[in-house]
Parts: sequence; structure tokens; C-alpha cells
Amino acid sequence: MNSIEENLKHILKTVPKEVTLVAVSKTKPVSDLLEAYQAGQRIFGENKIQEMTQKWEEMPKDISWHMIGHVQTNKVKFMAPYVDTIHAVDSFKLLKEVNKQAIKNDRTINCLLQIKIAQEESKFGLNNEEVIDLLNSQEVKSLTNINITGLMGMATFTDNKEQIKNEFNNIKSLFEILKTDHPTLKTLSIGMSGDYQFAIESGSTMVRIGSSIFGERNYSH
Ligand SMILES: *Cc1c(COP(=O)(O)O)cnc(C)c1O
Repeated sequence: MNSIEENLKHILKTVPKEVTLVAVSKTKPVSDLLEAYQAGQRIFGENKIQEMTQKWEEMPKDISWHMIGHVQTNKVKFMAPYVDTIHAVDSFKLLKEVNKQAIKNDRTINCLLQIKIAQEESKFGLNNEEVIDLLNSQEVKSLTNINITGLMGMATFTDNKEQIKNEFNNIKSLFEILKTDHPTLKTLSIGMSGDYQFAIESGSTMVRIGSSIFGERNYSH
């Protein structure tokens, strides 16, 4: 097995410079994160607030922490003191809570709106109409301590490459349309270990890669 540093170097060779790499370290021990940190990685993604907070406490403080999992409103307060970006925002209620907790901490928190691009029923996210309504809502515009910086999506878990490419192309089209009225949208967070090359071809600006850096996880999240 390759080391984490070797895996990271390999990934970085295949990811263009303008695409941001989020190293998804969920379920992995702090020693693994430190190895990636020592190889230069500064952006880490986690999907459980408690686990992320514990790692934030133990790790060096010049790291950007990205919450990539589904977030319950009542948990926002635990990450508000330090989280950089929340990837899976899919309701006004959640945006309002992130704003409230950001104000309490005298911070601004970046939010990506999760778009439902997969066929699977289980995937969270907004449809096209809902994301347009959210972005145009006066209430959302009045939230002072959040920045809606882009969109996030997860393709269907399938071997059908054409389907994955279609789903990524759909979110890229939506992103381009929305950007004309909302120039603060800069980030398109699509692509994981199995599909990030397709995501980059479709115009991803941020990939979230876990198992190709840290190895397979023992249990899935
Ligand atoms: C786990 C996870 C990833 C990374 O998955 P890998 O297949 O290990 O690269 C990316 N995005 C989200 C939302 C995840 O939950």
C-alpha cells in the first residue's frame, strides 16, 4: 500500500491547480490527518460534527475545515466557532441557523447549496426551482454572516459513466446560469475518489477525495 503522502502527490498530479482539493478524512485517525498535513494539505473534509470538532482541537490551527455531511440545525453551534465551509446546505432554516451562530462567533461562514443531481431517492438536496427561489429570497439576502459561495452535488453511485457525466453536466449548466445573476457563486463542489476525473471534465472547481488518499474506510458513511 502507498503512503498517504504518495497518494496525495499522485492525486495532486491529476487535479489541475485551479481545482481545490478537500481531503476527506472522515473515520480516519488524527495520525493520518497529520501525515497529510505534513505533506502540505491544509483543507480537510469531515461529515460528523463531533468527530470534526475533536480533530479541529487536536490538529494545527491553520487548517480549513469543511463540513461535507448532512447537517442538523441543532448541531450548527458546535462547528460555528471554526468551520470554514458547509457543503450540504439545503434549506432556508439551516442557512438562518448558520447565520445566527456565525454572528454569535463574530465570523462569516461559507455555504454551498446542495443540489440533488442523483437519481437515488436517498440523496439530499434542492431541485433547480428551489435553489433559484433561495438565492432570490430577500430573507436570504438579509443574512449578514454567511456567504453562499457555490453549489455542491453528489452523482448517483453507479458504474454507468454516462449517467455520472450527465449528472455533473447538469449541475455545471445550472451553476453557469445562476452565476450570471449571482456572481458570488464561485465554487462547484463535485467529484469524489471514484468520479473526480469526470467532475473535473465537467467543470468542477472543488473535489472531495477520501479513500484515494487515506485508503478504504472500514465502514461507510
Ligand atoms: C465520503 C464522502 C466523500 C469522499 O468519498 P471517497 O469516495 O472516499 O473519495 C466525498 N463527499 C462526500 C459528501 C462524502 O460523504
